[in-house]
Amino acid sequence: MGFGQNKLGVHALCWVGGWSEAEARKAIEGTARVGYDLIEIPALDPTQIDSALTARLLEEYGLAATISLGLGPETDISSADPEAAKRGEALLMDVVSIARDIGASDICGVIFSALTKYAEPATAAGLAQSVDVLARVCEAAAGNGITVGMEVVNRYETNIANTAAQGVALCDMIGAPNVKVHLDTYHMNIEEADAARAIVETGDRLSYFHLGESHRGYLGSGSIDFVPIFRALAQIDFSGPMVFESFSSEVVDPTLSRVLAIWRNLWTDGEDLISHARDFTRAQMTSAIRTESLAHTKGVLQGG
Ligand code: MN
Repeated sequence: MGFGQNKLGVHALCWVGGWSEAEARKAIEGTARVGYDLIEIPALDPTQIDSALTARLLEEYGLAATISLGLGPETDISSADPEAAKRGEALLMDVVSIARDIGASDICGVIFSALTKYAEPATAAGLAQSVDVLARVCEAAAGNGITVGMEVVNRYETNIANTAAQGVALCDMIGAPNVKVHLDTYHMNIEEADAARAIVETGDRLSYFHLGESHRGYLGSGSIDFVPIFRALAQIDFSGPMVFESFSSEVVDPTLSRVLAIWRNLWTDGEDLISHARDFTRAQMTSAIRTESLAHTKGVLQGG
């Protein structure tokens, strides 16, 4: 298992904004039919997810799953309000139970703070509290073989981890064997000086990867240079899930769409969008594997 054999996934919001039986079936059936291995299910409100139903549909269509979320201000484990931190810990423990019940391999997202624009930097006490809670959450997840990914996002969505290096430092503080870094090209495009270098420096601490364009629409139609990014993933032999993430006002989750400021209609046909992303990703992976191998065996890409 190495780079090239990664499970390819898609975020459920490419299909649906909720998780009723009809919505879950549409997203899971469609994701499997287009040729993906995995669906990432957002669980900002875990009470909306029927685990038994979800497990049954995943089995029926032969699809793997992961769960992502961002905490809210009322469930912020980095908050100065201890009640908010308590609610956040309970929420994350509920998510661990759902992940266990549907057989999810990973829990990821902005789970170290609220997914929101902060007006102040994180405090030392808030960060320490977040780290304590996450150590307990990771322990519960480890008992079920679940990896927990800290998603590094841009400055308008958290004040704790905006760069890959900060993500690694956060994982070091938590100190659990199953806590890893989750990177996303959309956010890296805003915050990293050199996205490829950030990936290489994260190395085997990277567990989960989001592919998103600069405007969160069709891959290749924005300003992100994916070639060095895929080569860096090949270089570190990244073997974790690679999940396409895209948002449009065409499909609305009442909470997530607002938090992520999804005001524009970047696409209308989710199926066309994700089939394009599948082809784009496979082509980039194949090319990166070949160019990395050439660089190592022949030195032909060194220009010498
Ligand atoms: Mn993401």
